[in-house]
Amino acid sequence: MTSKRDTTELKVSLLSNGVNFPLDLFERYSGDFYENLYVYGKTSRVKKEHRIPQVLLLGDGVISALLRRENTPWSLRIEENKVNLYHNSTHFRVLELPEKPAYFGKLLGDGTPIESIVAVAGEDTPGYFLFPQCYYFDKKLPCGFCSLKGTRNNEGKHFVTEYNEGNISEATRIFQNDDWRHIPLISLTTGTTETDDENREKIIKPIKAMYDVCDPKIPIHLLAHPPNDFGLIDELKEAGVTTIAFNLEVFDREIFGKTCPGKEKLYGYDKWIDSLEYARNVFGDFNVYCGLVWGLEPPESTINGHRYFLERGINLASNIFHTDQKSVFGNMPHPSENLIMKIATAQDKMYDEFPEATTIFPVSMRSTIDWEIRQGYLK
Ligand code: SF4
Repeated sequence: MTSKRDTTELKVSLLSNGVNFPLDLFERYSGDFYENLYVYGKTSRVKKEHRIPQVLLLGDGVISALLRRENTPWSLRIEENKVNLYHNSTHFRVLELPEKPAYFGKLLGDGTPIESIVAVAGEDTPGYFLFPQCYYFDKKLPCGFCSLKGTRNNEGKHFVTEYNEGNISEATRIFQNDDWRHIPLISLTTGTTETDDENREKIIKPIKAMYDVCDPKIPIHLLAHPPNDFGLIDELKEAGVTTIAFNLEVFDREIFGKTCPGKEKLYGYDKWIDSLEYARNVFGDFNVYCGLVWGLEPPESTINGHRYFLERGINLASNIFHTDQKSVFGNMPHPSENLIMKIATAQDKMYDEFPEATTIFPVSMRSTIDWEIRQGYLK
């Protein structure tokens, strides 16, 4: 008998160590599955022609990113068309693969395939990656873990980069009218514009177009860089956004500067904190999230950051660090299982102290265990 805690610990181990498998493994699987489309990052050492799933389903509603690594005790084999997970040579568990969204394969009126515009988060949450660029790359100041530019110029280049209002409205109608899965939330992510005018044109306008056709109106979550003029935070709320995340990524001020040099030099640590507090006042307590990446700073610093934000009515949105090949930190080690469990145990206690705190998604997501902790899976 395995418990939910066992499944969460398995996810922690898979995110820390990765899993090995032959490059052509999934060609031996006879069913269809939702494959990794490389929306903003490429974490596995595979070629685009090797179709691999975006996530693995571990059981108990828990999913995990699939990170292919060679020096790991974990491996995958396909046997009798089942995905078997092994720990060294011992069979550990049978895993499932994510289902391809039923609306994939449909074409928009102008011939654009819907899967070139809709970015599915986790196992089934539809959304969009608006403005998939970031001016920090041009200034040679990208965040160390980010491979947005390299990925979108290569494996992710089939994705639409300009979202016209017609396409986004049409795609939204299609997935909302499809009964494949209940959709509790639409997830939006954006790159970083240099100016607020560009932000209004490339981000706020398409959000408004999407919100206008939403029927029924459902929560819309946005992960973005905060605007220069905080007034745009009000505009985002008016456009239909219901919860918002501005990810500081690292709580320690000095490590923040080394990890996110663009954010530090061209925006600023203090202004980032101010933007979160401003957003909290606009969206309300616990409707604003601040993401920290586990493994880029000492665990005590991440834990202090979590407390700092929760005390201010700002939710946590964690990400467990994993290397992206085309990023500055492409060779940095992943956090150990012990480090991850140390932060997770502290977060579990903090959720008891702050019962109003919630997770962005009401389901498990691929590179974080926020949902599993919030559900009490570590108790
Ligand atoms: S702000 Fe950082 S994480 Fe966001 S797109 Fe730019 S480089 Fe990537």
